[in-house]
Amino acid sequence: MQSSTLRLGKKKNIALIAHDNMKNELIEWVRSNKDILSGHHLVGTGTTARLIEERTGLPVRGYMSGPFGGDQQVGARIAEGVIDFMIFFWDPLEAQPHDPDVKALLRIAVLYDIPVANNRATADFILSSPYMDKEYERHTFDFENVLKDRVRLFNK
Ligand code: PGA
Repeated sequence: MQSSTLRLGKKKNIALIAHDNMKNELIEWVRSNKDILSGHHLVGTGTTARLIEERTGLPVRGYMSGPFGGDQQVGARIAEGVIDFMIFFWDPLEAQPHDPDVKALLRIAVLYDIPVANNRATADFILSSPYMDKEYERHTFDFENVLKDRVRLFNK
């Protein structure tokens, strides 16, 4: 598949999501990294976004609540190239009603070469990465060529 790159700017668009049992941990993590995160643009699924705003004072643009389509909205924004990385504390001990959406979101994040932190340690490593204050080229696709190839396949 023909690849292409997409440049992440110095100011990152960061998606924040936490399942219910993990929300306190994510809020605590955001609070302890408030200075760094205040220099970036934050978005999140509805409940997570609202709680982070209320408890840390940082502005977070909220999408729909996760089980009501919010995970799919975040996935769509990743595919559109709008979200640069994702901190997603999913619950390793409890099944979710929207497990298929969670799987789809994680798949899209891998496909579009988005850095993803699924626990606190990884989130700490990402936040202390030198790329946080620099531009970074992630790998994506040459969409026009992907489409041309696919259409050619059906026209054979
Ligand atoms: P929520 O969604 O922030 O609205 O709770 C999170 C999720 O379960 O995906």
